[in-house]
Amino acid sequence: MRNDFYTRIAGELADIDAQGLTKPERVISSRQGPVVQVRLADGRTVEALNFCANNYLGLAGDPRVAEAAAQAARDAGAGMASVRFICGTQAIHKELEAATADYLGYEDAILFAAAFDANGGVFEPLLGEGDAIISDSLNHASIIDGVRLCKAERRRFPNGDMAALEDELKAARAGGARTIVIATDGVFSMDGHIAKLGEITALADRYDALVLVDDCHATGFLGDGGRGSAAYRKVEGRIDILTGTYGKALGGAMGGFVAAKKPVVELLRQRARPYLFSNALAPAVCGAALAAIDIARGLEGEDLRGHLKTNAIRWRGALEDAGFDLVPGEHPIVPVMLGEARLAQDLAAELLSRGVFVTGFSFPVVPRGQARIRTQLSAAHTSEHLDLAAKAFVEARDAVVERSKSQPVGVA
Ligand SMILES: *Cc1c(COP(=O)(O)O)cnc(C)c1O
Repeated sequence: MRNDFYTRIAGELADIDAQGLTKPERVISSRQGPVVQVRLADGRTVEALNFCANNYLGLAGDPRVAEAAAQAARDAGAGMASVRFICGTQAIHKELEAATADYLGYEDAILFAAAFDANGGVFEPLLGEGDAIISDSLNHASIIDGVRLCKAERRRFPNGDMAALEDELKAARAGGARTIVIATDGVFSMDGHIAKLGEITALADRYDALVLVDDCHATGFLGDGGRGSAAYRKVEGRIDILTGTYGKALGGAMGGFVAAKKPVVELLRQRARPYLFSNALAPAVCGAALAAIDIARGLEGEDLRGHLKTNAIRWRGALEDAGFDLVPGEHPIVPVMLGEARLAQDLAAELLSRGVFVTGFSFPVVPRGQARIRTQLSAAHTSEHLDLAAKAFVEARDAVVERSKSQPVGVA
């Protein structure tokens, strides 16, 4: 029996590999940044331009953010060895919750170990039998899991399809739902598409529904003041519940949050399971996030956002000119569509050998046959970084195409 189990696990791994779906983890021996030191399989370390981090504002390796983390650890220790409600709440937790709520324009905020936990824990305490959640089909895995853990009726609409969303709203109302929540990513991470929050909030008003937005790929850099997708779509104040992360633009350490009206946050403190039954955030993590929010909110944040925007435009232009198939958009996520998983992996490997670090994405992260290299810009990239990387993309593509001619697919 036990042997069967281990044989089955090994078989599944072999299947994944045979389909070209294995996701290798490359070891980085430097800080996160536009240029990183990457350790190769043969043990050599190479310098590479990094185009696959969520380091939108370039703050993940920022010495001020790292020092704020170190200072918080010196002042408040490594951690509390407690969940928040027993003996785990320190001043720095309250400070970060207040800074988050104030920055994003909410009454209050509550911290989680990750946005994954925030999404996993936000639905179940607030909604139950007799309620309905209408979820975009491309929502992040953590929203899908969070919705599954909740007793509310589940409804789904195809990504960005407003007519289908309206049908679901009608059906939920006709079914007598007590509370209806529309749940959507603010930005869909595999495409960089920004949710149509203008239309979504208008529909929510018409059908008396609440709106929950997961703004992990927006907070800190999208819209006015970097306040996210609602600011970008000019519907600030209309999103009832916002979930987000400190693990991307806001310093890149880790940690998540839910921002909402006070009673909503209070009920989550009393009932959200990943909050109640998991350790308080480490002070270092809070210190890093506080420093990052400070930078993002201020004048420097404006500069960084301007630079990020310019970088995204320049990068899109360079790859389009070179004939790459991009998902159109304005977000610093710029997906290069390749189709087959193996091609995405091969091109990524070829690029690394030419000093550009990117990752191929394939099933189950994206649908089968839609493998891609998702490039992501950072405010920390210089125009020289972009030009070098664009040149490497062209050369790597030529090399991969040349190899596939001499070694036709399926023959190797
Ligand atoms: C990254 C991401 C998460 C998870 O954030 P963590 O803080 O790393 O757990 C959740 N939702 C979306 C849309 C994301 O992009």
